[in-house]
Amino acid sequence: MPDLIIPRDLFNEVLEYCSSVFPHEACGILAGIEGRVARVYPVKNIDPSPVSYFMDPSEQLQIQKRMRERKEEMVAIFHSHPQSPAYPSAKDVHLAFYEDAFYMIVGLSEDIIGETRAFTIVGGNVQEITISIVD
Ligand SMILES: [Zn+2]
Repeated sequence: MPDLIIPRDLFNEVLEYCSSVFPHEACGILAGIEGRVARVYPVKNIDPSPVSYFMDPSEQLQIQKRMRERKEEMVAIFHSHPQSPAYPSAKDVHLAFYEDAFYMIVGLSEDIIGETRAFTIVGGNVQEITISIVD
């Protein structure tokens, strides 16, 4: 299984962004080059809720255009779970359209604050992968 490779400062950027959107779910795209995260693109959650997210489609299109210009690929999609463990919900699995991307979930509930895990979701199958935070 491949790793999600993310520099520490970008990892912290994701955690801070997710905290800033609390108590709602935050979401966004982790773009990279050769599988390593190189930039964080926060995306507006147009279904603001503590239990679900839906990325703003027009913002997502803009970001995908910018990523093409910068020759970046989509390494992962991230979102937060403000009140549940960092594991894909049934809805997350149902709406996981990107089989080539990783799904990173930031757990923000009090008992597991800062717990972050990553997965592949292919055809309804959830597989955990390792997050490698690099300096
Ligand atoms: Zn979720």
